[in-house]
Amino acid sequence: MTQINLLVSTPNLSDDRSKCPFCNEDEHPFPGKKEDNPDYSVVSNPGSLGCEDIADYDADYPWAMAKHHLISAKQCFARLNPIIRMAKMTGYDINGKPNGIGLPTISSKVDYPCDDGTRESYGWGGNSDRKKNIAYKVMTAAKAQWHVGHHSLELEVDPGYEWGDEIDTSTEGHLVKYDVKIVEELIKIMMYWKKPEFDLCNQDSDDDNTDKFIKSMDDLSESIEKKLNCFSSGNPKGSNPLYVSKLAHSYAYESSRQKRSRDGTGLTGPAKKRRRIKK
Ligand SMILES: [Zn+2]
Repeated sequence: MTQINLLVSTPNLSDDRSKCPFCNEDEHPFPGKKEDNPDYSVVSNPGSLGCEDIADYDADYPWAMAKHHLISAKQCFARLNPIIRMAKMTGYDINGKPNGIGLPTISSKVDYPCDDGTRESYGWGGNSDRKKNIAYKVMTAAKAQWHVGHHSLELEVDPGYEWGDEIDTSTEGHLVKYDVKIVEELIKIMMYWKKPEFDLCNQDSDDDNTDKFIKSMDDLSESIEKKLNCFSSGNPKGSNPLYVSKLAHSYAYESSRQKRSRDGTGLTGPAKKRRRIKK
């Protein structure tokens, strides 16, 4: 993580704009793509993500929809200049449909029940237990992570979570931020397509290289979405280490504890099997 943290805290280091981010030769348009005016500013436009509307304003504990970038436009993508340039050259859109998911959140239109039978807003009374109760009820009903507040929080997650082919062998829990994890994955994509053996900019090659970078970005979005969707398949902890809010993180860990205690043994997996064999 140290190397990643260094890269994250000193973003856009060693980006020479006069050189192609793929082949490191002098700047040139991507083969098969027309050259337009290079504008490397990153705009976050949740409206173009085309998220499926998951809002439910009629529920007892209603929710609005947050249009969430699976790969954050500003907190992740915009921090790596070479990847912004790869995207511009190939026509990748950080605000495109593959990078969006709708998640439950609050809005001025929704109120929640109070003890005296009235309804008030989420933040009413500044009571954190009330907020937690609302968030948990919504997550249970919407089967999705509560998207309130920012997601650059540090969260302690179990060791040994799986992410693609990466296996973390550490034996103690460690702290992971959603955004740091995604930047780490973006750096992998960037380094991958820089490899000379791919030679994406080779005009003489018979390969159509135009969509390769875009596909790896869309694949990353898809794998993040799969993780977030573990809330809908009854295994919220499967989202590890990607939680978009602190309450989504605590919900996942508490529901997994509850599941274990309902089970009666307080054990899961191999430990449970061992106990059965003993009997
Ligand atoms: Zn090139």
